[in-house]
Amino acid sequence: MGYDVVVIGAGPGGSNAARTAAEEGLDVLLIEKRQEIGAPKRCGEGLSVGGIKNLGLTPDPRWAINEIRGASVYAPNGKRISVRYPETIGYVLERKIFDKHLAMNAARAGAKVLARTVATGLIMENGFVKGVRYSRFGEEIETEAKIVVAADGVESKVARWAGINTTNKLMDIDAGFQYEMVVDLEEPDMLELYFGAKIAPRGYVWIFPKGEDVANVGIGIGGKEQGVAKKYLDAFIESRPDLKRGSILEVNAGGIPVGDPVDKLATNGLMIVGDAAHQVNAIHGGGIHEASVAGMIAGKVAAEAIQEGDVSEARLMEYEHLWREKRGKILHKIVKLRQAIEKLSDDDLNMLAEKLTGQDLVDFANGKNFMKLAKIMMRRPRLVSIAKGLL
Ligand SMILES: Cc1cc2nc3c(=O)[nH]c(=O)nc-3n(C[C@H](O)[C@H](O)[C@H](O)COP(=O)(O)OP(=O)(O)OC[C@H]3O[C@@H](n4cnc5c(N)ncnc54)[C@H](O)[C@@H]3O)c2cc1C
Repeated sequence: MGYDVVVIGAGPGGSNAARTAAEEGLDVLLIEKRQEIGAPKRCGEGLSVGGIKNLGLTPDPRWAINEIRGASVYAPNGKRISVRYPETIGYVLERKIFDKHLAMNAARAGAKVLARTVATGLIMENGFVKGVRYSRFGEEIETEAKIVVAADGVESKVARWAGINTTNKLMDIDAGFQYEMVVDLEEPDMLELYFGAKIAPRGYVWIFPKGEDVANVGIGIGGKEQGVAKKYLDAFIESRPDLKRGSILEVNAGGIPVGDPVDKLATNGLMIVGDAAHQVNAIHGGGIHEASVAGMIAGKVAAEAIQEGDVSEARLMEYEHLWREKRGKILHKIVKLRQAIEKLSDDDLNMLAEKLTGQDLVDFANGKNFMKLAKIMMRRPRLVSIAKGLL
């Protein structure tokens, strides 16, 4: 039996691709290797209100479990920059429920969803992807597909099977490590971020509250520091009596792609979305929104291409063009910002903390107002060439 579209991986990217394609009337199969969609999570679980809206969702207390009104950012010298809004600007999610909800939406739109089903290879014919090999409870199955969507996350193999190089340079991957903890929280509606070479080299420690006394306490650091993210996080927790007293409910770890996307996002009969394509905000590491938006564009392009009877690379590259217009250009700017910031010393960061507001930091993380940052940096001769890279 064959499908119009087989989507591999039921994270936010895959579920949104499957839902959109099914809503467009396609016959869709969505397969997920884990026995429970969404678990274990590998995520700080932060998502903005705007991000939720762009996904066509209304926050639901079953998965949008804690309202966030702002953030406090700490410079290496401890200087705090805060921004607090009168309204809710984001949520910390329960991703185990959220991801399942997205997969349910795909199923309700008509997609067939199969958990504990692992893709093991692609069927290739004359340079075209023509289907998927997968394994379910020991049974090896082959199914034809007009289009395959590779949404298999940061350790993606599917695109490589189709001949696309998805290898991440060590410089372009962050190592993430996190505990979900019961801790004392002073402001459960504020995110906390801590910077400094001794705290988190080329990264930061985050505290994302999930409620009055539960939080994701995590760290993302440069890929070159691979293997020691836990050590840095443990040292941070050890230095904070409030965290040291806390309990650990979950341990989460994973890589975060923080470079530009893979060279091409489509080939004959295949599109790549989400972490598999390195579509992530390189400053804060957020990829839920990015994967979902890419998935929705891919689902729509799949429907049009199949209707026209043309699933060639040239036709499917429309997905890449649309994505670059909608998200790619801004994400590329944000990669440049990341590359500039990682050249700054703790002293430079302390200097910036004296001059910037919380709103400035929010703007930068969203790819806006780099001119302000560049102008301040240019006052230090050593930073002039770095600042120029931002313009
Ligand atoms: C420590 C950490 C903290 C993070 N914090 C945040 C945050 O606060 N906010 C945010 O927005 N983002 C965050 N991210 C990033 C975010 O989790 C990802 O960007 C997002 O999940 C990407 O979605 P995706 O659908 O592309 O991939 P994933 O969510 O990784 O889904 C891919 C799915 O494919 C499945 N799969 C893989 N191979 C196969 C196969 N062969 N067959 C079948 N299924 C397969 C996997 O099991 C997985 O379920 C964080 C990441 C890490 C590591």
